Amino acid sequence: MSKVKYRYNPETLSYDKIETGFRYYVSRVFTLTLFSAVMGFVYFFGYVYLLDSPREIKLERENARLLSQYEIMTKKLDQVLVVLDDIQQRDENVYRVIFQADSIPNSVRRAGFGGVNRYRYLEDLDNAKLVINTSAKLDGIMKQLYVQSKSFDEIIDLTMRKEEMLRCIPAIQPVSNKDLRRTASGWGWRIDPIYKTRRFHEGIDFSAPTGTDIYATGDGVVVNVTTSNIGYGKYVEIDHGFGYSTLYAHMDGFNVRPGQRVNRGDVIGWVGNTGKSTAPHLHYEVRIRGRAVDPAHYFFQDLTPEQYEEMIQIASNSNRTFD
Ligand SMILES: [Zn+2]
Repeated sequence: MSKVKYRYNPETLSYDKIETGFRYYVSRVFTLTLFSAVMGFVYFFGYVYLLDSPREIKLERENARLLSQYEIMTKKLDQVLVVLDDIQQRDENVYRVIFQADSIPNSVRRAGFGGVNRYRYLEDLDNAKLVINTSAKLDGIMKQLYVQSKSFDEIIDLTMRKEEMLRCIPAIQPVSNKDLRRTASGWGWRIDPIYKTRRFHEGIDFSAPTGTDIYATGDGVVVNVTTSNIGYGKYVEIDHGFGYSTLYAHMDGFNVRPGQRVNRGDVIGWVGNTGKSTAPHLHYEVRIRGRAVDPAHYFFQDLTPEQYEEMIQIASNSNRTFD
């Protein structure tokens, strides 16, 4: 049995009846429950969307640290690239030059990775650009280091064969030429003795009497013993290995045959006046991989610095070759 309650209303100056029955309680419970549920949702979503959980805070902090570490790493990789570049320069301009190894072109040293995009799997990251940039740098360094290490392998191999190399590379004058006045004409642009025009002289001419001994200037194998009425006349070619060869032209006679091994200082033939020649002389060429170079740079074993100076002087003064 429900009690009927009243409340005094000062505005109407009367008593209002207050509902306290079963229906009143049900409706109040329902209202409160609904209100609590709504508030619960509001707090829950507020918590989820506006505030970070301790775990999220920790992850965010870690992410920020990883990011800054990545930036530091990229900068360090740049420094590594500078050092690597220095090593490559030294390799190219010192070691490979000393040992006459072929240059490794930058297209090989700095080659990238062709074909598919290697970093596609990283593209959906928030900091994709940084991560991909760093990965690409590292891959590039690894590739360049591989090429560099191969280069050093080659240099080491050449170092092991250095003694053999020193025996083979042309290092003396091809005729006994102690007074040096016999160095008739040097390497470079000279007047042709027959056509009287400027022509590139690819060797050095040593004037000497017919029959003067001609020496092999380094160890090697005779690859050419040729007789011709024109051009070089009777000439011998020696392959010294390591890319070097020498040629001795306008000879009077031969002391070697093709395929014969010779040592530095062996007499390979005698000075003559055969082929396109205006007087008895030896035309001597040094070639590296088939390309003629100045033989004056390959007399380092039998000349003093003063004699070398003098020889260069005589060779550069003379305007006309004996061819
Ligand atoms: Zn000549």
